[in-house]
Amino acid sequence: MTLRDEVERRAHGRCEYCHSQARFSTQTFALEHITPRSRGGLTVSQNLALACQGCNNHKYNRTQSVDPATNQLVPLFLPRRDV
Ligand SMILES: [Zn+2]
Repeated sequence: MTLRDEVERRAHGRCEYCHSQARFSTQTFALEHITPRSRGGLTVSQNLALACQGCNNHKYNRTQSVDPATNQLVPLFLPRRDV
């Protein structure tokens, strides 16, 4: 089993952020680094999430963002930690 197979199976073929299904997408889903490589994240199963192109592009290398409701800097959703 490849690393990609493992991540896709764990995610049940859905984007781990918006839950859209890869089988209905016209674009291949990415293996997104939860902790970005630019911040020391490793290419290992626990740090990879299946992500649609929209979510992958929007998150880019961020791990936190400003909440528009509170104007506070908050951590982004982490598929391995948050539900
Ligand atoms: Zn998505």
